[in-house]
Amino acid sequence: MDDQAGFHRPALSMSAIAVHTSPAGALIERVAETEGIEISLALLLCLVRSVKCWFDLRMPQLLLASTNAGKVAEFRRLLQGCGWEIVTPIDLGLELSAEETGDTYESNARIKALAGVTASGLVTIADDSGIEIEQMGGEPGVHSARFLGEDATYPERFAEIQRRLSGAPRDRRLARFVCVIAVADPRSGLVRVAEGEARGMIAVEPRGAGGFGYDPIFWLPQQSMTMAELPEQQKDIISHRGRAAAVARQILRELLHEYREDNSGYRPEQR
Ligand code: IMP
Repeated sequence: MDDQAGFHRPALSMSAIAVHTSPAGALIERVAETEGIEISLALLLCLVRSVKCWFDLRMPQLLLASTNAGKVAEFRRLLQGCGWEIVTPIDLGLELSAEETGDTYESNARIKALAGVTASGLVTIADDSGIEIEQMGGEPGVHSARFLGEDATYPERFAEIQRRLSGAPRDRRLARFVCVIAVADPRSGLVRVAEGEARGMIAVEPRGAGGFGYDPIFWLPQQSMTMAELPEQQKDIISHRGRAAAVARQILRELLHEYREDNSGYRPEQR
């Protein structure tokens, strides 16, 4: 087809017309015309770019190394929209054997995250957390999940804590939740950590049905309710895990960027 100026214009196919209708397509077509390149070549370029773009936008998987349903639910909310697809050991049919032998939250969080990397080869996030009670010299702390034994119920744990606090003045009922999150990178074995805490007091009796673990006895003076009475969106803002997760999101953003720039061919498993 010749245009008014007498130049030859290649005939447009249906797909070329589709490209022609988008601004980017129109631009490519103009360039193709100016340079005298066949439209089919421009289409090919467009296709290659779309494939690359789609590849970059796919979410890599992030293993959340926890089987604690309460924690998993919180992490799913806290990491929403972080650019990673959260998968748990249960989702992948993995059984992680991480002995929490550390005597700090950080060392235990590192142990759990590295166990996840070893089992899955994925970037892995794990946390170690606990409640520290002033009157009990900071106990149960890192042993919170095993306080009075792994099989003890929370009502039994609450009763024992009340027994130990009986008669204690108000300021000795001070407590805090602590959470350390570890993010382990399978390429380097490097682990980055984030920490958060929430301060409160031990309530005189358990209240509320939300959250998990020690939430019903964790009194928040400012909110005048226990952590278990707080709506979950508010817990996410003020909790130890919520605060640590805000920092972890930044770590995950940086890692995502690094993975996209990684030209070594390594890719965490993708959907
Ligand atoms: P671990 O981090 O798996 O060792 O478990 C930490 C334990 O601390 C949990 O099992 C709970 O007993 C307690 N804990 C940690 N975070 C919270 C929380 O947000 N609410 C209530 N209890 C918590």
